Amino acid sequence: MTIPISTTRLPAMRPLTSRHVAVIGAGAGGLVAARELRREGHTVVVFEKQNQVGGTWVYSPNTESDPIGLDPNRNIVHTSLYASLRTNLPREAMGFRDFPFVETGRVHRDPRRFPGHEEVLGYLNDFVTEFGIGELVRFDTDVRHVGLVEGGKWEVASKKGGGDQVDEVYDAVVVCNGHYTEPRIADIPGIDVWPGKQLHSHNYRVPESLKDQVVVLIGSSASGVDISKDIAGVAREVHIAARSNMDGFYGIPGYKNVWLHSMIVSAHEDGNIVFQGGNAVCADIILHCTGYKYHFPFLDTNGNVTVDDNRVGPLYKHIFPPSLAPWLSFVGLPWKVIPFPLLEFQSNWIAGILSGRILLPSREEMMKDVNAFYSSLEASGVPKRYTHNMADYQFAYNDWLANELGCSPSEEWRKQMYSATSKNRAARPETYRDEWEDTHLVSEAHEDFFGYTKNLHQPGIEPGSVPWQGTILPLDHWCF
Ligand SMILES: Cc1cc2nc3c(=O)[nH]c(=O)nc-3n(C[C@H](O)[C@H](O)[C@H](O)COP(=O)(O)OP(=O)(O)OC[C@H]3O[C@@H](n4cnc5c(N)ncnc54)[C@H](O)[C@@H]3O)c2cc1C
Repeated sequence: MTIPISTTRLPAMRPLTSRHVAVIGAGAGGLVAARELRREGHTVVVFEKQNQVGGTWVYSPNTESDPIGLDPNRNIVHTSLYASLRTNLPREAMGFRDFPFVETGRVHRDPRRFPGHEEVLGYLNDFVTEFGIGELVRFDTDVRHVGLVEGGKWEVASKKGGGDQVDEVYDAVVVCNGHYTEPRIADIPGIDVWPGKQLHSHNYRVPESLKDQVVVLIGSSASGVDISKDIAGVAREVHIAARSNMDGFYGIPGYKNVWLHSMIVSAHEDGNIVFQGGNAVCADIILHCTGYKYHFPFLDTNGNVTVDDNRVGPLYKHIFPPSLAPWLSFVGLPWKVIPFPLLEFQSNWIAGILSGRILLPSREEMMKDVNAFYSSLEASGVPKRYTHNMADYQFAYNDWLANELGCSPSEEWRKQMYSATSKNRAARPETYRDEWEDTHLVSEAHEDFFGYTKNLHQPGIEPGSVPWQGTILPLDHWCF
């Protein structure tokens, strides 16, 4: 997919202007947005409803009162992590560009290349310490409402703990609230009379919860695959229903109690779940590993931005609603990507546009670009709900942003590592996190990390040295 580069521009807001910006969420997206905005000279307030930074990466054993997330009044738990989760990307590729995710050598840290989730949280906390982001964050502060007020500004209504609501006005709002909290569940004919229990992966934490159960697990994406293996040791039977398997069923090699089926066609009062092709299983639990919905319960844009079948739009480059640009933006909507570097590119671009350093096309041009993008998806038969799926063009997207920013594009080693990891995952689904053949790319990555940090003269940073230890200071303003 080509990403057209626009030439006609909105008038420049020069000289560079400092804006008062609200960032909603202190996950990876909100943290890097805060850093980029402050580097650019804006004043920043980050609202975070949890009591710490890290968003998704803050594991909690707690789950929600409604295990499939239909009840709008349920207690919300932000994270969707399960206890055993290890990253599905190698740390070198996964980290921010100018704050490499390298092994620190510190105690209680996980040195593995595909570390457990605690290590990612540790890394994000290191990022916060390094760049002094903590002082920008208002913890335990839930944003209840964001709406337009006079003069094109935004009113942000928030509530800290049991305190009163506070209303404040900002020039711009950057939405970084994540999109792995609101479950999307499969629509199954007959589910209302089926007597078993249902659970969404958002509320799955440990395998013991499914001990001795016959589980039908829907979905074969990253979480579905991980969780099926996680529960195989304790569940009586695991039956995976996958769209990719058109007909019939077969056992998964290496497991006595795991089978792959086609999609479910119906559920029945006698407990049976019937799959395409006619085979049936009498199940205790349906586990929906069926993804999530974009959800912005606090955001009121007077209909300028909608979520339609998981398309958040209209958005120019998945970031700016043309009619409200640049005063409202979204960070982190794309999926099937390497999130952190993409969040970093997006944030840098937003920061530069808000100051007037970088120019946006006219609103008409942005809208034209969005419509052309939607038409291209339609012409290729891509469902609307895949609008933000960037599997095929994340690097082209990042490189387009890099071009706008005047920064170097995505590193070759990162692109190759992403592709090598995907191939390795397919070839060694059980062991890809511990066995690989792209060690040469790890060395290249470390050469590059040195390139980013060479003017810092930190001890331990040598070309190709693994691991890198020590801290990193902010680099030059504006570019990675
Ligand atoms: C199971 C799972 C596994 C994953 N594995 C990987 C992986 O291996 N590698 C990888 O790179 N990525 C992985 N990801 C993707 C992960 O989501 C991103 O790495 C990253 O965490 C996204 O950051 P974010 O800031 O966009 O969202 P989040 O991390 O979700 O942060 C959003 C923040 O906004 C806050 N918030 C939301 N609403 C409000 C409000 N109204 N007021 C105040 N605060 C609010 C939340 O509390 C949260 O802190 C995984 C995701 C999941 C769910």
